[in-house]
Order: sequence, then structure tokens, then C-alpha cells
Amino acid sequence: FHPDTQSISYTTLSRFPPVRLLRASERKRILVTGGAGFVGSHLVDRLMLLGHEVTVLDNFFTGSRTNLSHWIGHPNFEMVRHDIIEPFMIECDQIYHLACPASPPHYQANPVKTIKTSFLGTLNMLGLAKRTKARFLISSTSEVYGDPEVHPQPETYWGNVNPIGIRACYDEGKRVAETLTYGFHHQDGVDVRVARIFNTYGPRMNPQDGRVVSNFIMQALRGEELTVYGGGKQTRSFQYIHDLVDGLIACMNSDYDQPVNIGNSEEFSIIEFADLVREIVEKVQREEGMGNVKRVGVRDMAMPKDDPQQRKPDTTRAKEVLGWQPRWTVRMGLEEMTAPQRVHITLYAHTFTM
Ligand code: NAD
Ligand code: UDP
Repeated sequence: FHPDTQSISYTTLSRFPPVRLLRASERKRILVTGGAGFVGSHLVDRLMLLGHEVTVLDNFFTGSRTNLSHWIGHPNFEMVRHDIIEPFMIECDQIYHLACPASPPHYQANPVKTIKTSFLGTLNMLGLAKRTKARFLISSTSEVYGDPEVHPQPETYWGNVNPIGIRACYDEGKRVAETLTYGFHHQDGVDVRVARIFNTYGPRMNPQDGRVVSNFIMQALRGEELTVYGGGKQTRSFQYIHDLVDGLIACMNSDYDQPVNIGNSEEFSIIEFADLVREIVEKVQREEGMGNVKRVGVRDMAMPKDDPQQRKPDTTRAKEVLGWQPRWTVRMGLEEMTAPQRVHITLYAHTFTM
């Protein structure tokens, strides 16, 4: 124990995962907006284990308290129900600004609210960063590239977005959030980081959120046909959550203030991805001794409007400026996510929460 270390006894806190003991000078006060969601809760886990003080702001629109129930009561942890379209005051050193619904059905359910979250929410959090001199990281998205005409997509590509289409509330919301971020940077000297996140999957994805990974896994586990939209020739590149958390923390702690793509460049057509998911789920079911494992088929459904036809990150910059590159192949991530001990939980509790 260093004299200035908060003395946390592992014995008295044994109901919590063990957190690192940091000197007070190393321990940061970190605000995570959207911390109760899929990405946010994994990020909070890592920041807590690293020994920081973490405050989560979330309105629980798509996130849930249960994603973080294992930290409730820990002296380094606080969770506040708050909608970021309203200002919030707190002293902090770093802000990870993640709050925003991310799946198309959720962000399209109330497009005006999605835009307000991206614009007013980001404005409020940047105002907070300006006042407290906290470093500010925004979770932007590959959607700023829209339906890209450049492939793979480097950070220098300006994108091809329909400004009035059904995805615009999210895509244009994130684009204006980036604009605001650099406005505060140039005008007020706010220290900013911009992570452009590509499709990410992992435990705690909301199984009802309509994204392709959770849909396919839930459908395969239930023995239902996999719903492939528009023939499934469109492509995506999927990264596992642990790689993303590494990338976000590396981005925050780097001295690089321009946008950085964080994604895995393993690219699949959606129909290839459906084959991979059903192969892995069948393997898990056989290992579980589930007897005659039925091969599920696919059901062709209409292509949603403005669905990007190809997507794959150019991650050269992340490698150069952050020293970051993904370590999980898609197969490894899917196998971990659907591992036998999880499948029971998944089917029983209808969630990937564990
Ligand atoms: P998610 O829906 O699981 O999490 C979003 C969280 O933000 C939820 O906990 C939700 O309740 C909260 N939230 C939404 N609106 C809010 C508001 N107005 N005030 C307070 N809290 C609010 O989504 P996710 O996949 O965890 O995404 C997190 C962030 O990462 C988002 O900003 C998203 O745009 C970005 N991102 C995610 C992916 C991905 O593949 N998961 C890809 C690109 C970008
Ligand atoms: N998709 C699909 N079946 C589903 C859900 C999605 O074929 O059940 C397709 C969707 O049309 C898109 C891709 O999978 O081309 C990824 O969709 P997702 O909603 O996961 O993310 P995004 O479109 O935002 O990348």
C-alpha cells in the first residue's frame, strides 16, 4: 500500500471483482455516458478493474442496470439515471461519451429523440468537459461514412450519407456530434478524442435490439430460420467487444486528437455470416449433447432502405497512432459468446447479460 492509496480491503469488498489499487495521483475520475449499455458496461468493467472511479450516466432507454449490478455498492462506482439532453454537473478527469441508441430499430423508433441525444447530449457533455478541463472521447461510428463509395474506409473519407433517409437521425446525428466536438476543440481548447466504431458484438448485446449478430444467434439457438435481408450480399466487418474496449482506452490515453477507426477488417457478406453463426451454434449444441441438432435455414426478407452495401475499416491509423489492432477473430468471439455455459443463461434468461 502506498500512503496515498485509498485502502480498500479485499476482504470487506469480497462480493466485488478485485480492482487494482492505484495511487490517488494515478486514479482518475471517469464519467461514462451510456455506461449501462452493451459497449458502455464492458468499458466500465475494465475501468473499474484498472482501479479508477467511475460514474455512469444513463437513462436506461436501451441499457439496463443489470449490466452493471455487480458494481452497485462499490465505493469507486456510481450510477445516475439521467437523460443527457439535460445538462449535468460533476467534477471529472475523463469523459467517455457513449450515450446514444445504436441499433437501427432503436434509433429509428424515435428519430427526433435520437438527434436530440446526439446533438444536445453531446453539446452538454462538451460543455462539461470545457468547464472541468476533462478529456472528452466520443464514440462515433462507421455510419458517418454512410453507404461508402470508397472501400475499405479510411478516416480521410468524407462519406456518402442520405441526409433525409431513415438512418439520417443516427448518421447525421453522429456527424454533427463530431463537428461539435472539433468546434469545442478549436474554439475552447477542449482536449478531444474521436473513435469511429465499426460493428461490434459480444455478451450483453440486447437480444431484442434487432442487430444482425444478436438476431442470428437468438434465431439459431431457438431453431428458427435466420432472417437475411435483401439477399445478404451486403458486407459488414465485425469486431469483438474486448478489442473495442482496448481500442477506446488506447484512444483516450493517446495524444492523438483526430478521428480513429476502431474495427476488425475481417469482412463477411451477411449470407456468409449467417452460415458461420449457424455452424458455431450447431457445434455448441452438439457439445451440449442436445441430440439431433437441426440445421436451421435462412429466410429472405426485404432489404431495409439505405442499408450500406459494404463496410470494412481501414485500421492503418489505429495501428500507427495507438499501437492498437484487433486480437479476436470473428470465429473466436462468436465461440466465446455462445460457449456452452452461456447458452443456458441465454436461453433461460433470454439475455446475454452474464
Ligand atoms: P446500446 O444501445 O447498448 O447503449 C447505449 C446506451 O446509451 C444505453 O445504455 C442507453 O440507455 C443510453 N442512452 C441512450 N440515449 C440516452 C440519453 N438520451 N441519455 C442517457 N443515456 C442514453 O448501444 P451500444 O452498442 O453499447 O453503443 C454505445 C455507443 O457506441 C453508441 O454511441 C453507439 O453509437 C456507438 N457505436 C456502437 C457500435 C456497435 O456496433 N455496438 C458501432 C458504432 C458505434
Ligand atoms: N441484417 C440482416 N438480418 C437481420 C438483421 C440485420 O440481414 O436480422 C443485415 C442488415 O440489413 C445489415 C447488416 O445485417 O445489412 C447489419 O445490420 P445491423 O442492424 O446489425 O447493423 P448496421 O446496419 O447498423 O451495420
